[in-house]
Amino acid sequence: MSVCIEIKNLTKCYGSVVAVSGLSLEVGRGEALCLLGANGAGKTTTLYAICGLVRLTAGKVLVFGKDLEKDFLNVAPRMGVLVERPSFFDYLTARENLSIAAELAQKEVPIEKALDRVGLLSVADKKVKTFSLGMRQRLGLAQAILTEPELLILDEPLSGLDPEGGREILQLLRSLVDSAQVTIVFSSHMLSEVEVLADRVAILNRGRLLAVERIDSVLSYDESDVEVFLDAPQAAAKRLESLGWAHCTEISPRKLRVRLQNETVHHLITFLVGQGFVLNGVVPRRRTLEEYLLRTMTL
Ligand code: ATP
Repeated sequence: MSVCIEIKNLTKCYGSVVAVSGLSLEVGRGEALCLLGANGAGKTTTLYAICGLVRLTAGKVLVFGKDLEKDFLNVAPRMGVLVERPSFFDYLTARENLSIAAELAQKEVPIEKALDRVGLLSVADKKVKTFSLGMRQRLGLAQAILTEPELLILDEPLSGLDPEGGREILQLLRSLVDSAQVTIVFSSHMLSEVEVLADRVAILNRGRLLAVERIDSVLSYDESDVEVFLDAPQAAAKRLESLGWAHCTEISPRKLRVRLQNETVHHLITFLVGQGFVLNGVVPRRRTLEEYLLRTMTL
């Protein structure tokens, strides 16, 4: 994968506040990277630095191989940006607002397609002042994707959207990555959306980068913590406790949750079947992004 963004030793201070400190990170073309971290961790500042909206205190940001501070005008047309709450001309319609954005972009752009993609085509000719928060957010996304950019920078892209609307937008964004090789860097506090959209997560804490990890490794299975669906959980729990290597952490009418020590799931299954229990399923627990985040933040 070729590189889309190179952040080299980025530091940004607002007066005496160090918002981002010595951050180095690369993002590949056609990759979705999510910045995670508590309020004030430096996510928005990093996104601003990537789209050239702040003057850097130190360090460099290269986008498409070009130094943003020197080559901003060449890079900007290849980016779509949605940061903060998007603002529009309220007395104009959604279509008219996008027409203005199209004129500023100085190129032919598919306005209808952008409105359709974010689910606003049926209200394209309504004044924006009548729009809900979620509709404004959708219009902001339509504006960000209007020029069909190679890179999208999105701060909390699903904020204000209802769960169904959020899912549609997630699918749209993921399809841009998968089918058009668009690079997306975004921030979010909603971990379920991150799990769907991100290829990698970067965790920030007080302006410093703590960890970068692939989402599929974060969400891997923990084979030492399994749920066993079987016919007689209470009786099985008693037999397991005597072994010393299997501890039941939950017992319910149809299943047991078992933590294994120095033994495999295979041993557990062999033991239970050997004891005459009827097994209906064995499911290793999936690690969650929330656990990973908490673990990384407390290291
Ligand atoms: P949130 O999750 O709340 O959006 P964040 O991770 O995006 O937080 P930033 O908005 O980047 O964090 O802020 C990082 C630090 O920089 C915070 O301490 C914040 O108060 C400070 N900061 C951000 N913008 C400014 C500004 N324009 N002037 C002064 N301080 C700022």
